[in-house]
Amino acid sequence: MKILVINCGSSSLKFQLIDSETEGVICKGLCERIGIDGSRIVYTPVGKDKITKEEPMPDHNRAIELVIEALTNAENGVVKLEEIGAVGHRIVHGGEKFTKSVVINDEVLKAIEDVSDLAPLHNPANLIGIRACQKVMPGVPMVAVFDTAFHQTMPEYAYLYGLHYSYYEKYGIRRYGFHGTSHSYVSKRAAEILGKDAADLKLIVCHLGNGASLSAVDGGKCVDTSMGLTPLEGLIMGTRTGDIDPSVVEFIMKKENASVADVTNILNKKSGVLGLSNDLSSDFRDLEDAYLKGDKNAIRAVDTFVYRVVKYIGAYTAAMGRVDAICFTAGVGENSGFTRGLICDKLGFLGATLDKEANKVRGEEKFISGADSKVKLLVVPTNEELAIARDTYALCK
Ligand code: AMP
Repeated sequence: MKILVINCGSSSLKFQLIDSETEGVICKGLCERIGIDGSRIVYTPVGKDKITKEEPMPDHNRAIELVIEALTNAENGVVKLEEIGAVGHRIVHGGEKFTKSVVINDEVLKAIEDVSDLAPLHNPANLIGIRACQKVMPGVPMVAVFDTAFHQTMPEYAYLYGLHYSYYEKYGIRRYGFHGTSHSYVSKRAAEILGKDAADLKLIVCHLGNGASLSAVDGGKCVDTSMGLTPLEGLIMGTRTGDIDPSVVEFIMKKENASVADVTNILNKKSGVLGLSNDLSSDFRDLEDAYLKGDKNAIRAVDTFVYRVVKYIGAYTAAMGRVDAICFTAGVGENSGFTRGLICDKLGFLGATLDKEANKVRGEEKFISGADSKVKLLVVPTNEELAIARDTYALCK
């Protein structure tokens, strides 16, 4: 079956067409600047050159029409419309309602809408993507795959904040966690690579990209994760603070006569390694180059990022009582031997050692721990689109 995977943002739409039998990508692409001047679709049919078309896209309906046109046109299309058997949608927030992927119906749409106040930038855009697909592909089954679902196995003591319990009861304020599709995919794949049953393993997954989160996966189930009610909590990220004292918000508001929206913007867009490096860059490639030249701003940012990751690894080892393997994934985790090296060099307390030669790997599955390491260290490239396609196929075949 050919599965269309859709990841819809407020002004962008990423897509991949995946063959469920071979699990190969047939075509992938992106619609940018939806609803804004200068919109375009960029896509690459497998084995062909990248195609870019500037096209007005006043809304997501038009974007989906252009995606279908790109996939099915006579000149360089890759599929017939009727061959698309199902559509899998990435949905950011499933609240407590969704513990796994589901076939989309009116009740599911209403439930996604009901938790939209927990992800006001993302869920409404995800819903627009679903409705646009339903319009263009009536009758084709659609599946919702939630970023939060994998983390729903966390015990109460891991997901509750030290707030009055009534806030949880009234508003659902708690840790939900994100990047769940990635944590799930990587932890399952790590068990396969290790040749062990997931039920017997205690794993820590480090998803280190522009957004970054860790999860503790015990016996195949998530028992803790670093992102919280929103993706702002936890690790220091490209532009997000991660954990800070909540009083900082009021403090900055008073000092700078700023509004809540101003401070929220600072915490999400102007902080993280970008802010710590005095605006040098949020991109780890730039930061690493500068670090190696001795740039103090880059050294401060990367060292602070690394320290936070190591602290969480220690915490999650304590939470599980032991750790068998630590997995690195996403842009930085998969590609940056430099940052992985800085992190792994601080894991001596676990008896972990790094194989420096193996750690040169980029974007491939590989053990990077030394032969004498008490904890396996491994790189496992994530593949959220494939995980979405697998769930979609399983529910629609
Ligand atoms: P993601 O959000 O998973 O796409 O990851 C984006 C981050 O990965 C950016 O900070 C990139 O700088 C970083 N990244 C990608 N490739 C490399 C690389 N070869 N070395 C260091 N960082 C990289």
